[in-house]
Amino acid sequence: MEPVEKCKCPECEKRQREHEESEELNFAVLIALMPIMAITLFSNMGLF
Ligand SMILES: [Zn+2]
Repeated sequence: MEPVEKCKCPECEKRQREHEESEELNFAVLIALMPIMAITLFSNMGLF
């Protein structure tokens, strides 16, 4: 197997940074949605 080479050119650095930022955004959205999902679940169970 060939070793994975990490390209250091600005193009790839920018792409990598945008990829990381989008993952952080997805995680933030997931965290923000969790209370809503919990409330929906509890109300469906008749606890509210
Ligand atoms: Zn590159």
